[in-house]
Formats: sequence, structure tokens, C-alpha cells
Amino acid sequence: MANDNNNDIMDKIVSLCKRRGFIFPSSEIYGGLSSSWDYGPLGSELKRNIKNFWWDSMTNRRDDIEGIDASIFMHPGVWVTSGHVSEFNDPMVDCKTCKARFRADKLEEARCPMKPSKSPLTCGGELTEPRQFNLMFRTHLGPVPDDNSIVYLRPETAQGIYVNFLNVKNSSRQKIPFGIAQIGKAFRNEITPGNFIFRMREFEQMEMQYFVHPDEDARWFEYWREQRWEWYRQLGLNMNKLRWHEHGPKELAHYAKAAFDIEYEFPFGWQELEGVHNRSDFDLKRHMEATNKDMRYFDERFAEKFIPFIIETSAGTDRTLLTVLVDGYDEMEIKGEKRVFMRFSPKIAPIKAAVFPLVKKDGMPEFALNVYKELGKRFKVFYDESGAVGRRYARMDEAGTPFCVTIDGQTIEDETMTVRDRDTMEQIRMKMPRIIDFLTEKVN
Ligand code: ATP
Repeated sequence: MANDNNNDIMDKIVSLCKRRGFIFPSSEIYGGLSSSWDYGPLGSELKRNIKNFWWDSMTNRRDDIEGIDASIFMHPGVWVTSGHVSEFNDPMVDCKTCKARFRADKLEEARCPMKPSKSPLTCGGELTEPRQFNLMFRTHLGPVPDDNSIVYLRPETAQGIYVNFLNVKNSSRQKIPFGIAQIGKAFRNEITPGNFIFRMREFEQMEMQYFVHPDEDARWFEYWREQRWEWYRQLGLNMNKLRWHEHGPKELAHYAKAAFDIEYEFPFGWQELEGVHNRSDFDLKRHMEATNKDMRYFDERFAEKFIPFIIETSAGTDRTLLTVLVDGYDEMEIKGEKRVFMRFSPKIAPIKAAVFPLVKKDGMPEFALNVYKELGKRFKVFYDESGAVGRRYARMDEAGTPFCVTIDGQTIEDETMTVRDRDTMEQIRMKMPRIIDFLTEKVN
């Protein structure tokens, strides 16, 4: 990518996302709401494709992982047991000078709103002592808002999996090792959201919990690290921009035996994209103690009962989408004009192919509309006949459409069309059945 060092790349991406309909500020006509974003036509398609790609590789292509879709509201006792009520806190400081609020553990990377080139540590403002702030959103279930009706918006999807461990095991008859996967919304009252959709208060997670014998945890931990790394490669990311970060003893969460994050080099620095954690038997043990439900598993291989260890892979959907936007963003100068290309992998591109008649006459629009209808039975395609063909290509490059099919004078004679590749700019002439095979191969 030509723009790695460009400081304003995030501004360019935010503005392209709005202009092309990937992502809009939430409730914009009311002035927006801090850190809330809405996915537009292209963005919601891209997000759905990312989720489908994850779901497919985690569940449909394997027989050892089951999917679930648990509710956002859970029994409040779940969050006491999990430690979220007592420990899901971030340390918060206020600046007495400018009244801004920061996470005390992220001061170095934070920016002073009055002097954006400086951090709150160097801007000269006076900071308060850190105090703990619980990140869970609370609300009340039912009409009486008292202490007995408090519920939380789930801050992670994982707990919905743990409390359904027995249900899934018994109904699916899976044998250990096996996993449970879930995609869903999570909510955190982040002190300092920001960097576009990187840190939001409402976001989506793609989590998988893999239940294993306690003696086999290290092996499965390595296995899932490899699998998740490979998934990002298949997503089409530039792997030089990914790295592993191992949690040291001080960083390790209270429940974790080992933890590695996959980090991506965003324009604002290396940041976590996904966590792969060995959570030991902490979660099931705690839920067993709290509910008196027997979470132990009887393993015929070892003729023994044990509480399974859990290997967790926890990714953010929105953060993956941001990574795909940043990683795919490219600028090139063509004939003196600066052009933007979103180089999404065809697997996840919102529109797989565009269909253009070269000109609006000589039977070309009619031919093109038939091609559009035929391709539309299998792929998300887009028809465009307005303006010069060069402009139409440019619009599709910005939308990240990998292929454009153009119907020209020769098509009317021999039914061949040009298929133009967004990244190589190569144009190959093909007839209809072959175009379907070509796109099927690329998209899968
Ligand atoms: P961070 O250190 O960035 O706050 P975390 O370690 O608390 O993240 P986890 O609890 O491990 O994050 O959550 C798993 C994944 O969920 C993260 O890797 C990230 O992709 C996503 N995620 C977590 N918090 C947010 C958020 N506020 N906005 C968007 N995605 C998030």
C-alpha cells in the first residue's frame, strides 16, 4: 500500500466511508452520538460477509464446533460469578485543566484535546488520582427500577456460551474436545472510545470457546493460535502488518493461564485485533460453584470426570472490518488523477462484480441487463450505465468491487465481454458461462 505513513489516512477512510455508504455517524441529523456508528449499504454487506466468513470457517466447515445465539440480557448473577461486577473496571482520570477524561492505563497514547500533539502526561494539565470505573451498562428489567430489577447489557458474548455448556453438550452429543461459537453484540461503557470504529460502546464480537481435557490445553492453545493466524491470512490481510503480543504476568487477566493477542499495525499504532486465551477451568468451575450444576465432563477415553479447560478465541467484528478498510485502502495516480482503491478480497467484497454497457445504445444495455440478472442469481452485483466508463470503473474501485464486466460492440457480435480485474487492471474477454465459473472460483 502506498500510504502507510500518511497521518491523515484515518480521516480519508472516515470520509470515504461516509461518501460511499460504508459507515455513517449514528443519528447524524441530530448531531450524532459519541462513538456510535451506523453501517450503510456497502458497510452492512461487508460486515455480513466478514461474519459469514468467520461463521463458515468456525462452524460449517467443521464438525467439532456448534453455534449458538444467546440473549443480550442474562441473569445478573452471571456477571457476579464471572467477576465483571467486581473487576470489570478501568482506571479513570480527569484533567482538572480541560475537564477531559482518560483511561489512566492508556495515557501515553491518549491526546490532549487542547494540544492534540501532546499526551495528557506532557500537555501541562493537572490530572486527578485514578479511580475505578465499571464498564458495564446497567438497566432495569420490568416497570420498577429498583435494585432487584437490575440487569446488564452483556459486556462480552463468552458468558452466554459458558452458561449453555451443558445444554449444548447434551443436545448436540458432542464429545470433548469441542467448541461453541457465537457472534453477537456486546456493550462497554468505554471511558475513551475513539479511532472511528476501533473502540466503541456498542460493538460486535465473534467468539469461540473450545472445551478440552486439562492435560491437553497447551496443545489446543497452540492449535487455535495457528488457526486464527491462518484465518486472517485467508481474509486477505497483509500479514506483515500482523504480529503476536504475549500477555506478561502483570497483563494476564485473573482467569487466564496464557494469553496472546493478534495485533494489527493501524495508522494509530499496533493495536489488539483478537485475543486467544487459555482460560483454564475458571469459568465452568465458578458457574458450577454458583449454581450447583455439575459442569464436569465424563471422558470415556480417560474414564474420569473433570471440569474442561477452555481455549477462547475472541475477535471484534467491527475491529476486523476497520482492519479490512485500513489494509485495503490504496491510492494511485492514473493519468494525473489521484484514484482510491479498496482492495478487499473478493470473498468479503460488498459487491462482487459490476456490469456496464459501454454505451447506452446498439443493444448494449439490453444485453448488459440480461447479464446483470443472470449474475445476480448467484452474486451481489451492480448495474451502472451512467457516465463515462472510466468514471464507472473508478466508482467501483472505491467501493472495493473486484471485477467489472463490460459489454461493448464486440459483445453484440460474438457474446464475449471484458472482465476487468480491479487489482491487476487486466481485461480478459469471456462468454457468459465462463464468467460465472470465474467469479465462483474467485469469490470462494
Ligand atoms: P482493549 O484492551 O482494546 O480494551 P480487551 O482486551 O478488553 O480490548 P477483549 O475483552 O479481549 O478486549 O475483547 C475481545 C475483542 O473484542 C477485542 O480483541 C476487540 O476486537 C473487541 N473489542 C473489545 N472492546 C471493544 C470495543 N470497545 N469496541 C470495539 N471492539 C472491541
